Amino acid sequence: MAERFDAVVVGAGPAGSAAALALARERFSVLLVERGRAAGAKNMFGGRVYAWPLFDLLPEWQKDCPVERFVTRESMVFLHGGASLALQFDSPRLGDGRAASFTALRPRFDDWLAKKAEAAGAMLITGIRVDELLMEGGRVRGVVAGPDRIQADVVVLAEGAMGPLAQKAGLLPDLAPPAVSVGIKETVDLPAATIQERFNVGEKEGAAFVFAGEASMGLRGGGFLYTNKASVSLGLVVSSEDLARKKAEVPAVMEGFRMHPAVQRLIRGGKVSEYSAHLVPELGLGMRARFSGDGVLVAGDAAGFLINNGYTFRGVDLAIASGVAAARAAVDARARGDFSAQGLASYERHLRELNVLTDLETFRSAGGYLKNERLFSLYPQLLLGITEKVYTVDGGGKRRISDIIRKEMKGKAPLLRMVRDLIEGARSM
Ligand SMILES: Cc1cc2nc3c(=O)[nH]c(=O)nc-3n(C[C@H](O)[C@H](O)[C@H](O)COP(=O)(O)OP(=O)(O)OC[C@H]3O[C@@H](n4cnc5c(N)ncnc54)[C@H](O)[C@@H]3O)c2cc1C
Repeated sequence: MAERFDAVVVGAGPAGSAAALALARERFSVLLVERGRAAGAKNMFGGRVYAWPLFDLLPEWQKDCPVERFVTRESMVFLHGGASLALQFDSPRLGDGRAASFTALRPRFDDWLAKKAEAAGAMLITGIRVDELLMEGGRVRGVVAGPDRIQADVVVLAEGAMGPLAQKAGLLPDLAPPAVSVGIKETVDLPAATIQERFNVGEKEGAAFVFAGEASMGLRGGGFLYTNKASVSLGLVVSSEDLARKKAEVPAVMEGFRMHPAVQRLIRGGKVSEYSAHLVPELGLGMRARFSGDGVLVAGDAAGFLINNGYTFRGVDLAIASGVAAARAAVDARARGDFSAQGLASYERHLRELNVLTDLETFRSAGGYLKNERLFSLYPQLLLGITEKVYTVDGGGKRRISDIIRKEMKGKAPLLRMVRDLIEGARSM
């Protein structure tokens, strides 16, 4: 292996492979280093990719991308006391054009994207972990992997959540528990025909669910379910702070979610074939990461590029777009012959042009808002309590809806606080 490349990319997740692909197309010699035995082997996520950045990066992506199903049905389900209240939206346009989103399995999706980077000319090596950044005169000059010291004009750190190398480079502060959640996921195998019938979707169509309320057993967080071809991805993202504070066990929380009657109805007869857990950087721009330094750029989860606003969960699309933005910044730096932090400073402009930073800014306060405990206990309880009373006819005398609402809300929380929560929610989401 050569000991010098124009660019070294650490991590063959979506951010790293997109960066390597875009750099190779610009005639950079690129080394893409992945610690897993294959790209995606170690990676997990909920299950949905928003496709928009693929239309520009790989215009023919639909020819061979390992899509499980295109999402055409969205559901938000509130759970409390064994009951559920669902808000459902379906439209064929959800699975169409640039607005399409699809379910995927990470080992296949990441492997596919890494192979596209290889096909463009990047060199992919797997089963090798980058241990250190190669520093010279206070700037990054390459990476150290085992006995190898590999030099490069620019290093793109796409190492995923918590980014220890980004922390060492001083680009990411030490992340305290409020900034990080824990993601848990099970893959539940079900025949394709059962999925189509149960979720009322066509052969290529799929459904996405967000669960709020009792899903996370009193911890701040929520659940998700995505339909794949012949399995569903079922999981939770919960506050790591609450897990520690309430001494909750991750498997017990997952079991509680899985056993909820509304969830059981969806996975009935299925067999759990995989279980995994992963950290999720939840504060987005609130993580106060710096995106570039001398000879180094940070992309994807390592930079905190993740949006969870309660109804959409986006990380993969932002990772791909930020990888492309990193490559564009490296091209600008090469034109100036300056790979210092100043030479790479156009990264932020490219992140903005690709709407990574703008979308993160739009939902800047969502992460903080979703730390409000009332969203996960009081409000689902009120919503389901009111709905149950509205639909109950038992001969015991019916009240008007306004009276039911007044009675259910009495003594639960000051009205002013609820109104304030509502306004803050509308603003942050
Ligand atoms: C439970 C859960 C559900 C999620 N659901 C969704 C969803 O439905 N949709 C969505 O868009 N996003 C979702 N996300 C977020 C999404 O997974 C991430 O935002 C996305 O994977 C970030 O991509 P990345 O390339 O930055 O990092 P990663 O995908 O984490 O890739 C980093 C890569 O770097 C490698 N690596 C790390 N350190 C080194 C090293 N030192 N040397 C060599 N290689 C290294 C890793 O092995 C890995 O392959 C979810 C996350 C979780 C945890």
